[in-house]
Amino acid sequence: MDTTVKAYLDNYQVSQATRDFLAKTQRMFIGGNWVGASDGAVSEVIEASTGGVLTQIPEGTALDLDRAVAAARHQFDQGEWSQLKPLERERLLHKLADLLEAHAQELAEIESIDMGKSVVQALEVDIQGTIDTFRYFAGWASKIYGRSVEPASLPGSYVTYTRKEPVGVVASIIPWNFPLQTMAWKLGAALAVGCTVVVKPAELTSLSTLRFAELVQQAGIPDGVVNIVTGRGSVVGAAMSSHPGIDKITFTGSTPVGRTVGEAALADMKRMTLELGGKSAVLVFEDADIKAAAEAVAQGIFFNSGQVCDAGSRLYVHASIYEPFLEALTEYVSGLKMAPGLDPDCFISPLVSAKQQDSVLSYIEAGKQEGARLVFGGEAHGGSGYFVPPTLFADCRNDMKIVREEIFGPVLVSQSFSDEDEVVALANDSIYGLAAAIYSNDLTRVHRVIPQLKAGSVYVNGHSTIDPAMPFGGYKQSGFGRDLGPEQLESLLETKSVWITLS
Ligand code: NDP
Repeated sequence: MDTTVKAYLDNYQVSQATRDFLAKTQRMFIGGNWVGASDGAVSEVIEASTGGVLTQIPEGTALDLDRAVAAARHQFDQGEWSQLKPLERERLLHKLADLLEAHAQELAEIESIDMGKSVVQALEVDIQGTIDTFRYFAGWASKIYGRSVEPASLPGSYVTYTRKEPVGVVASIIPWNFPLQTMAWKLGAALAVGCTVVVKPAELTSLSTLRFAELVQQAGIPDGVVNIVTGRGSVVGAAMSSHPGIDKITFTGSTPVGRTVGEAALADMKRMTLELGGKSAVLVFEDADIKAAAEAVAQGIFFNSGQVCDAGSRLYVHASIYEPFLEALTEYVSGLKMAPGLDPDCFISPLVSAKQQDSVLSYIEAGKQEGARLVFGGEAHGGSGYFVPPTLFADCRNDMKIVREEIFGPVLVSQSFSDEDEVVALANDSIYGLAAAIYSNDLTRVHRVIPQLKAGSVYVNGHSTIDPAMPFGGYKQSGFGRDLGPEQLESLLETKSVWITLS
């Protein structure tokens, strides 16, 4: 660990448990064993607010993936996991949730230091969300059943029923913005129904997943049920997408990479769920409460420094309140503190990497070049760390690059509209369809607009209200399939139709 990073940890009095974890040589978790990469390669992990080296992780290879898939396959085909009584799986998943709860502060610190995000938000959102997801799906383990069916037309006499069977070995590919929570979204349901899993965390943010694996072992979940292979997407992720030993792939990440993964997975008809990018529209009507809506809109884009797939990044405000709304936004955002993630008052944290900072700054430059009006932000941060200040553009048009493309940073683009039909058309004019938000106190209007929006989630007078009981996923190029809720369980189960001929 660099001295700059050590000083950062000292300054914010990081717990001894976190320091002990960070001081260890990191290993992958395959078949219950802690192993380095088969060729010994490692990659450096960079801390986002100092730019210093935090630690190293193994850079897994296709051979490491083969071993992990073999362990998961063996456990699924011949091990006890899928054969356990559902209540026993439920008990083990609750035990895992108990351990996550007991180590919540440490996990939040690891997530914050590894990704750059606010430690307070990590604790309240990422880690709490992870615990809740495992608890929610633990309860489903004992509630999976098929149905008894009466054939509708076939002559003769039969006993017919359906069985629900776990799909098998599930591979999950995870992005860097909510590492632990996204992994929980993938694993909670898969483990509850009896699947075994191989996880590839994002190379930038693998540490919380490795700490999680220690808790999986401590919970007594059998070897081979959960396997973690760290490494590059172009190596481990690509090998996963076409691996013949994998039955289902569940991916969260960008739309271009999701398309590559999907094409490879289709070759042998793997089941798949793709949670992809977004450019979510926010519609503010003239009857909205301006102050409350401005606060919620700001939270909806600037939370996690805009590195949120369903961030409300395209703002449409009725012309009659456009300027007062921008003023309310400006005032609220001026009170949000930009600071390193471990600062307890941090709201705007550094972006995950220098590459992401460059990418976001290049979009800001494109906005200026295209003639959008800069209301606040927009300048690179001079000091250390990958900070980008919250940025608002006004008077945008739907044909601008900053309106069409996912920026994945703290940049909000806005324009005014005159009537409902116009704003619905503007909102739907995107390749993405992950989420949308409506701010209005006119119930009739709200219910009229909801069905017209082509988006997997519609938030009314709020944003990103996520819960394990509610499905999450996208329309259009934001992907297909759903995580969370009972809808996700179906995607991890095969349905077998059984026919017993009586006469
Ligand atoms: P990427 O698509 O770049 O990466 C996502 C994951 O895919 C990472 O683990 C990455 O590995 C891996 N990967 C990269 N290349 C390949 C490949 N050729 N084959 C298989 N896997 C590969 O996304 P980011 O990590 O940059 O995350 C940001 C994106 O994710 C945004 O577009 C965002 O909208 C989307 N996202 C969507 C969410 C949703 O639920 N819809 C939620 C969160 C994010 P590595 O980086 O380690 O090399």
